Amino acid sequence: MAYTESYTCDVCGTNKESEGWWLAWVDCFPGQRPEQDQPLIKLTRWQTYHAHSDGVKHLCGARCAGTMMDRWMTEQHEDPDAHCAT
Ligand SMILES: [Zn+2]
Repeated sequence: MAYTESYTCDVCGTNKESEGWWLAWVDCFPGQRPEQDQPLIKLTRWQTYHAHSDGVKHLCGARCAGTMMDRWMTEQHEDPDAHCAT
């Protein structure tokens, strides 16, 4: 099959044509009690298998990873009682 996978950066929208990309997603940091859980960001090197995971963000480099982190941190500050999405 002549199928070429293509990815775009979730921050700047550039197409993936080079190596050195990153994957990020929001996970859950469990609290001592269920109501104390809170969102957590995970970041890892590009890996094609994980690039297909639900909710994963594709990032073209450190700059866009930083932008995504910055936006997420702002949201967390705006809603400091936010819990994990279910
Ligand atoms: Zn980007």
